[in-house]
Amino acid sequence: MKTIILKRGKEESLERFHPWIFSGAIASRPDDITEGDLVEVRSASGRLMGTGHFEAGSIAVRMLTMDDTPVNDEFFAGRLAEAWDMRRRLGLITPTNTTFRLVHGEGDFLPGCVVDVYGHTAVLQAHSPGMHFARHTIARNLVALPDAGIENVYYKSETTLPFNAALDPVNDYIIGKYDTDVTLENGLKFHVDWLKGQKTGFFIDQRENRALLRRLSKGARVLNMFCYTGGFSVYALDGGAASVDSVDSSAKAITLTDANVALNFPGDTRHRSFAVDAFDFLRDMDHGAYDLIILDPPAFAKHRGAIRNAMIGYRRLNEAAIAKIQPGGIIFTFSCSQAISKEQFRTAVFTASARTGRRVKVLAQLTQPMDHPVSIYHPEGEYLKGLVIQVQ
Ligand code: SAH
Repeated sequence: MKTIILKRGKEESLERFHPWIFSGAIASRPDDITEGDLVEVRSASGRLMGTGHFEAGSIAVRMLTMDDTPVNDEFFAGRLAEAWDMRRRLGLITPTNTTFRLVHGEGDFLPGCVVDVYGHTAVLQAHSPGMHFARHTIARNLVALPDAGIENVYYKSETTLPFNAALDPVNDYIIGKYDTDVTLENGLKFHVDWLKGQKTGFFIDQRENRALLRRLSKGARVLNMFCYTGGFSVYALDGGAASVDSVDSSAKAITLTDANVALNFPGDTRHRSFAVDAFDFLRDMDHGAYDLIILDPPAFAKHRGAIRNAMIGYRRLNEAAIAKIQPGGIIFTFSCSQAISKEQFRTAVFTASARTGRRVKVLAQLTQPMDHPVSIYHPEGEYLKGLVIQVQ
């Protein structure tokens, strides 16, 4: 195996089990090293720190082990079994819930690897060249998980791997084939388009928050902004909402939402959908038109340089909704930007509230569910934050 030697003192973050080595921390590396290579990492004094995947970016190594455990078939089988057992203990794998995240990268100590399960199909996504090369090993071990019932593995990494690595990944089944695209979440049915949809096809990370929304929907006039596949809309209808309006600027998202509503509530006239821009919709809507509003926009800040504009975006969006919601109404507002902290997001909602002058109570603070765990050594893994607020 190739060896990377760190600069003096740069082993410190590894001693605290942080899984990334930045390129600036490296003193020497072999000339023939290539992206995706499995490398052993040593301190300046030669101490073995662990094994990881090398790549050419600013994150140069993602660590898989922090000791001398070999990274082989058995390693992947062990990590996947651990991940599977945890989801089973959480009660996420039942006849009425066949949708969950099985591997959440660093949070499951498999940096660069995401696996989402939709019934008998697992969608595998590599975020590092090393995981791209490990894809067949991972896929084999996914279908070998006892009692898991995973028969098909769809590999989807065309947009998640570094372009410069020139790996030319192809989105396709690497084991099995298409069976059905209908999956169950908390008893509700959803079509999941892993072939063309965003990410792996569905935002599993909102499952618990959607269940909470369902509890608060009875009799409410609901606006689901940035609806994508209509997850929140379907739960609101199930919870007895008086009406649900779904908004997304993408016509494809509206088609998906309509299909998912029809799958669960065929012919239900309580639902309407609009393919328009969220800010335009909020500008044009009447005061008091809604009792419950969901704001779940795409990440406004994909990197630290975008924080300032993102904060303005969150402020504007929340201000428009807070200003117009029916007195006593409730807003579920989210940020999935990793670069925006919980405190920053709260500040944006605070500023938005203050500008409207309305009385606003925080009823709940939301985050990602337990199948999106965060390694205690890698707090950057916490990305989803939400507030449930009531506006007087
Ligand atoms: N709430 C969804 C996930 C939202 S993803 C769920 O639970 O699954 C973000 C969505 O916002 C995408 O579908 C995207 O098409 C939409 N979007 C992005 N910019 C928008 C805008 N300016 N107005 C309306 N929708 C927008």
